[in-house]
This record gives sequence, structure tokens and C-alpha cells, in this order.
Amino acid sequence: MIGSKKTPSFLLVLLLLGFVWSELAAEEIHIGILDWRTLEDFEQHWLPSLQSLEQEMPAHRLVLHAMTLEELNDALADNSLDFLITNPGHYVALSAQYEVAPLAQLQHLKEGLPLNFVGSVVLTHQERQDLKALTDLKGLTIGAVSEESFGGYQLMLDTLHQQYSDVNRWGIDWRFTGFPMDQLIERLLNDEFDAIVLRSCLAEVMALEGSIDLSSLRLIGEQSVSSYPCMISTPIYPGWPLLRTARVNDTLARQVLAALMKSDSVLIDQDVVHWQPPVSYQSVYDVFERLRIGPFAAFPHNPILHWLLIHRYWFYAAFTLLMLLVLHNIRAEYLVRRRTHELELSQQRQREAEQIAQHHQDELRHASRFTLMGELAAGLAHELNQPLTAIANYARGSVRHLQRDNQDLLERRTQLVEASEQIANQADQAAAVIRNIRTFLKKDAGEYSWLSIVPVVEDALLFCQTRLNQAQVKPDVDFTENLPEIFSHRIYLLQILANLITNALDAMVDVEVSQRELHLSIHPDAVNNRLIIQVSDRGKGIDAAIEKHLFEPFMTTRKEGMGLGLSLSRSLAEALGGELTLVNRQNGGAVASLILPIQQQNQEPIECQE
Ligand code: ADP
Repeated sequence: MIGSKKTPSFLLVLLLLGFVWSELAAEEIHIGILDWRTLEDFEQHWLPSLQSLEQEMPAHRLVLHAMTLEELNDALADNSLDFLITNPGHYVALSAQYEVAPLAQLQHLKEGLPLNFVGSVVLTHQERQDLKALTDLKGLTIGAVSEESFGGYQLMLDTLHQQYSDVNRWGIDWRFTGFPMDQLIERLLNDEFDAIVLRSCLAEVMALEGSIDLSSLRLIGEQSVSSYPCMISTPIYPGWPLLRTARVNDTLARQVLAALMKSDSVLIDQDVVHWQPPVSYQSVYDVFERLRIGPFAAFPHNPILHWLLIHRYWFYAAFTLLMLLVLHNIRAEYLVRRRTHELELSQQRQREAEQIAQHHQDELRHASRFTLMGELAAGLAHELNQPLTAIANYARGSVRHLQRDNQDLLERRTQLVEASEQIANQADQAAAVIRNIRTFLKKDAGEYSWLSIVPVVEDALLFCQTRLNQAQVKPDVDFTENLPEIFSHRIYLLQILANLITNALDAMVDVEVSQRELHLSIHPDAVNNRLIIQVSDRGKGIDAAIEKHLFEPFMTTRKEGMGLGLSLSRSLAEALGGELTLVNRQNGGAVASLILPIQQQNQEPIECQE
């Protein structure tokens, strides 16, 4: 049975089928319907169109509520409706807030007028000949039912905005009267407004009902919509849907839908009313989007902002991605810094280790000079002995001269002066030997400087003089005249050369004295800008067993040897930016080559590595 609740003056109950007992036990289905015209209309069209529901669903009792827009909104907020029938605009507005979905759409033909389509029409008094086009509405007072009326206001506004960008400056004075819509025509004819906006076909329906005379009205902004029989000023949109609310379960929705689809067209007076599956309401959504109302109210008018708002989820995603990237970068930066710090620490440790190694190297070189000096000590003592003996001899000679009485004074004086000069010379020579030894043995081995190589070679030979004497070897030195000075370290050079000379002498121990030969040569290699100092001997040559490991520490064939001389000499040569090699000579013996760089004096000398 169909019934109505809420305000008694509005709600009607229609008993169609069933018995009293079933009626009492029946489950109620509450359907809210927008009453946009008059209660009469509601009774005449909606109630009959839903009769089929009662017939198909006898276990249910329909309760229909005729409601205004506000009442429908409140009922949805209270969750007190199962279904509602409203205009498409209201449906779109509701869809932003509530879970409502179209279940079916009403087809309504009233004496050939298709009431299932919605459009807007602007009408004025027939006498207003001046009002024809929409642009004539500028500055007019226009009546409409409500800002929320889809056919009665919103569609018209959308069309105006679509066609004219400056509508907001037209100065239209909108007057909203509230529902029902019918009364607008009377108020227009009473000159309350210059024009009114109606839902399309309403005027024609009212004319059919005999309540107005269409000839008293004039259409403004005529729109041509093919085979649409009513006056129209806008495009047309799909008609009213039956909506299910969130509280309807699928079983009930299916039952209602099946019942509606099963029902035949209902003929009421001249009206044909029937239900069909819902159509797309996208065009209605588009209107709302353009007007920024309903679900689009929060969307700004600025197209850029609008675009940003629509694509905001991409921005959220991009922002999240960006944040992840930033976090990743921060982490990478942190890791890089930590790694850099670790590297710096390890470099520092390496530097410290290198310093310690360098220190040990210096100590070793120093110790090796001591060893070398130990080997040469006897010779050096002899070196010193010579000037000291000479000094003693000259001193004794002088005394003897002084003791002689018969000697001419002038002659004596001359001889004494000579002897004194010799004493001074010999003392200088002894002092030079001692100075050389001291410098050679100093821990701090002096500094790099520009020096001539020939005197350094001569000093090295002087160091080894006694060994040379013992071996009965007379060295032969050959060098190119006017050799350029080199930027080098005198003590290191002395150490290398003394090593090479003593090695050469050691190699010739078992060689006949007459066969012994020590040759030193100093020549430039102009092509490569190097100085080549060679120490050649006629000794036993390099022992094949150690030939490949000559420069490795502790590699020796001598009983009393340490095997450090060559390795140290090579490290010193490399520290001087040069190199050291030792190879056999063709006709016996070996030749050691010390190759040193020749730097340009006007340029910064190449840094020597310690
Ligand atoms: P040590 O002199 O204490 O043996 P070195 O490092 O100076 O240590 O020499 C290593 C080895 O190289 C020597 O024992 C020797 O066998 C070989 N050697 C060095 N110089 C010569 C040379 N001029 N002729 C032949 N062999 C040599």
C-alpha cells in the first residue's frame, strides 16, 4: 500500500493492494519526491507511476513524501529515506555529499510534451517587444524560484556564461521567490519582474491545464533544439532519476528496479508515464563544473588553479617523489660525508704511516752511512794521518831550523814561513776530511741544492781512497767539460757513489791486481736531459743466482755483506728523481749507471721525492 508521512497537509496515503493484516506487517519503503510545482501534480503523476511497486512487492508498504529541496536534504542527512526522486541538478549536488545512485529514470509525456527532459526558458510579457535576445536581459529584474533550481535557474545561468563572458557585468537583478514555480508567471504578468526563468515545458503544461494563456508570454533567447515542442532558451538535459540511498541493500534495490522495469506505461489523463534504465548525467555534471557549484563548489574559477586542483593527486605523487628524492639525497650526502671522513682518517693514518716509514728510511740510510763509514774508517784514518804526519814533520823541521846557529837569519826565516804555510795547508786538508766525515754521518743529511757533479764524484773517491789503495786500483775518471749543475742532494749522491765504488772493489777482490780496472764516467744525455754517471769495473761480474733480485734488500753474495747497499742506493736515486741500474759488461765486469735529471736553472726544479 502507498502511504505518506511527515506533514499531514503534504503527505498522502494511497491504498492499492493487500489486506489489513499484511499491511500492518509490511516493511516500509520511504520515497522522497521533490515537489517542484504543486501538490496536485505530485498526486496526479508520481503516485500512479509507483503503483506497480506495490503490486510487485506486496510484502512492502510504500510511504511517499512530497518534499522541498531543503526537506529532501534534511531527510538524507537523517538517513530517513530509501529512495528519492528529484531533478538531475539536485542529484548531482547531492552526489557530492551522499551515497546516492540512479536506479531508473522517469519518462513522462504529457499530451506530447516530453517532461522527462529538462531545460530553461526565459519569458517576458508579450508587450515587451524590446526583449528578444539574451543580451537584452542586461540591467533587468529577473524572477526565478531558487538559486538551487536546476531547470529554473542554473541551466539558464550556465547558458548565459557559456555564450557571454561578461554576464557578471550585465547588472541583472535576480529575484528568488521560492517554489512552486507556477506562481512566477502570474507575478511576471503583474509586472513584478521584467522576465522570469522557468523550467522548460512548464508554461506549455500550464497552458494545457488552462491556467495561463501562452499568447501573453514572449520567449527570450530562443534556442533551437530539434523536435522539442516547448519554448526553450538553453540546451536540454536528461530528466529526473529515481535514486537509491546508502541505506538500501542490493536485494531491495534489485526488487524495486525489477518492479519498475516490469511496469507498463501508466496513462493518467493524457499523460504517459513509465520508467526506464538511467541515462548518463555527465552533461549535468559539466554544467555544475562550469558554474563551480555542487560537487565543484570548492574548485576555483582560475583555470590554472582549477587545473592544479584537478591534477592535485599527481602533484601529491610528484611531491612525495620529490621528498623521497630529497631524503635519498640527504642520505647519500650523509653517506658521502661519512665516507669522506673515513677516507680522510685513513689518509691521515696513511700519512702518519708514511712519515714513520720515511723516518725509518732516514734512519736506515743514516745507519747505512755509518756502516759505509765503518768500512772506510781505516782509509779515512790514513787520510787524516797523511796531513797530521806532514804537520808533525814540518813542525819538527822548523824546530831544527830554529836550533841551528850557523844559519843565515833570512834563509831561516824563509824556510820557517814555508813550513808554517805547509802546516796550515795540511791542517786545512785534515779539517776538510773531518768535515766531510761529519757531514756524511750527520743524521740530518743536509738539503737539496744546485751542485756540480764532478767534485761530488771526486769526494766519493776520496772517501774510498784507502780501499782503492788497498786494492791497488787507480780509478780513472772521464767527464764532459762544462757539465750543467743539477739540483740534487750531495750526501745522498756521495752515499750512492761510495756504495758503487766499494761494490766494484769488492767484485775485483779475486781478480789479478794487474787486471783490476775502475772507470768512472760522467756524461750528459742531452736528448733526455739527463746526466749519466757510470761506475765500471773488471770484476767477477754479477752472480747469476741473484741477478734478478740485485736491488732487493738483504741480497748479497759477500760473507760479511748486508745486502742493503744497492737497495738503499736505488731508493736514494729514485728520491733524487733518477734511476740506478747494474748490468754485466761485455768483456767481464759490471757497470753501474746512475741516471739523474738535469733541471733548467731558470725553472722551478722538479720536486724530489724523499
Ligand atoms: P753488499 O755489498 O752488502 O753485498 P749490495 O746491495 O751493495 O750489498 O750488493 C748486493 C750484491 O750485488 C753483492 O753481494 C754482489 O753479489 C752484487 N754486486 C754489487 N755490485 C757488484 C759489482 N760491481 N759486480 C758484481 N756484483 C756486484
